[in-house]
Amino acid sequence: MRAGFPDFRLGSVLATSFTATLTERSGEPVERIPVPQRLVDWLAIHGLAVDSCTAAQLELARELREAVHAAATATAIQDPLPASALQIINDRSVQGRAAAILTPDGDRRWRLGSDCVEDALGVIAADAISIIAGERDGKLALCASPTCRAAFFDTSQSRTRKWCDMNTCGNRQKKARFNANRRKNGAAAPTGAG
Ligand SMILES: [Zn+2]
Repeated sequence: MRAGFPDFRLGSVLATSFTATLTERSGEPVERIPVPQRLVDWLAIHGLAVDSCTAAQLELARELREAVHAAATATAIQDPLPASALQIINDRSVQGRAAAILTPDGDRRWRLGSDCVEDALGVIAADAISIIAGERDGKLALCASPTCRAAFFDTSQSRTRKWCDMNTCGNRQKKARFNANRRKNGAAAPTGAG
């Protein structure tokens, strides 16, 4: 991780890991790809290494990110898909060039057509399409944290996952409940608890 920049939230689903590069959308938002180089870093971690990234390409990525967030949120609450989001997701999917490659270990990798940001965004857009279209085993849901409300892909058997991320939103909620119980039971609230 690079010093001075917020860490990434790493999930197992490409499209929702990507939307999680902006967190706390309903609170005080944290931008985790504040500069082009951080998008390059994020893509490399996700097997989509690109040569370089301009400010304009970072804008393109953020535009796709918010379109995926809007479409995934609409799907989670069973609203119609916003037309503008649909357009952006489809444009990025059409314009990116990438091929699925099978490794000798039987894993799937992506080979980008010209190692540019647009190719990587095409892969992310296609991933978003597959989960929004309901092609994969899981269900889109919204994080129960009122300051987060991130759309995440719930693959739990019961489909009852409440938080986008157990280590952050889930933990915070647990701590808040714990502190509320302590107060109710007459114990002094701990100071400086976050
Ligand atoms: Zn959350």
